[in-house]
Amino acid sequence: MRKKIAAANWKMNTLQSEGKTLVANLLSTLPALSESRQVVIAPPFTQLVNVTAQLQGHAHIHASAQNCATEKSGAYTGEISAAMVTDAGAAYVIIGHSERREYYKEDNATLVKKSDIALENGLQVIFCCGEPLSVRDAETQNQYVETQIREGLFHYSTEQLKNIVIAYEPIWAIGTGRTASAQQAQDMHAHIRSVIAGKFGAEAADDMSILYGGSVKASNAIELFSCPDVDGGLVGGASLVAEEFTGIITAMVNS
Ligand code: PEP
Repeated sequence: MRKKIAAANWKMNTLQSEGKTLVANLLSTLPALSESRQVVIAPPFTQLVNVTAQLQGHAHIHASAQNCATEKSGAYTGEISAAMVTDAGAAYVIIGHSERREYYKEDNATLVKKSDIALENGLQVIFCCGEPLSVRDAETQNQYVETQIREGLFHYSTEQLKNIVIAYEPIWAIGTGRTASAQQAQDMHAHIRSVIAGKFGAEAADDMSILYGGSVKASNAIELFSCPDVDGGLVGGASLVAEEFTGIITAMVNS
C-alpha cells in the first residue's frame, strides 16, 4: 500500500530540551494519522531514545536516524551502526541526503552499503536523490536522478523495495527558500515512478511512496502534496517549528 508521509529532518539542530518541547508541541496538535498517513521524525542521534520514548503510544508516528554506518560493528570511531539505530527504537533511517553526498563525499557505492545494512537490521530506508542546479539548468535532471536510483536501488528484490521510501530533493531547493514548482515536482516524481516500474513492475511502482523535499512549508505543502505522484514531504527547516510542521502534516493527511 502506498503511504503518504510527512518526515521531519532536524539535521544538526536542537538540544535535548528543545527537541522534547518540539515533539510535545507536535503531539498536542497532531491530526489523526493512519496506516496510510504517517509521520516520521529524524532528530540528531543523541535524541533518538528520547524521541522514541515520547512517541510511545502514538501509532503511525515513528523516529528515524539521519544516517548510519556502512559497517556492522567494530573499530570505526565516531560511527553509529544500523543495529544501534534499531536498538534506539527508530523505525527509519535517511540514506543519501544531499548534505551527506556533498559534505561527506558519500557516493552511490557507499550508500548501497548503508541501505543494505539498514534493511538487514529491520529499518525502513528513506533514500534521497536529486540534482544540483547545473544539472537542472542543462535539463538533464531525469537521467541524473535515474542513475542515482539505478545505482542505489536496482539490486534489491521487489520484497526489499517495500521497505524503501524515495525522497526526491532537488539540491537547488534545499534550505534555499526556492521550491520546485508543483509541476516540476510532479514531472520528476512521475519519472521516478516509471523508472521503478521499468525495473520492478507496475504494482511495486504504484506502492512506492515518493516524497518531495526542498523548502516545503505549510503554505506550499497543499499544492505540492496534491500532485498525484507526490506522497508527502521530507522537511528540513520548517520541521523545526511545531506550527509549521503541523500545517505540513495536516496537508499530508488531507491529500
Ligand atoms: C532537507 O533537509 O531534506 C530539506 C528538504 O530541507 P529544507 O526543507 O530546509 O529545504
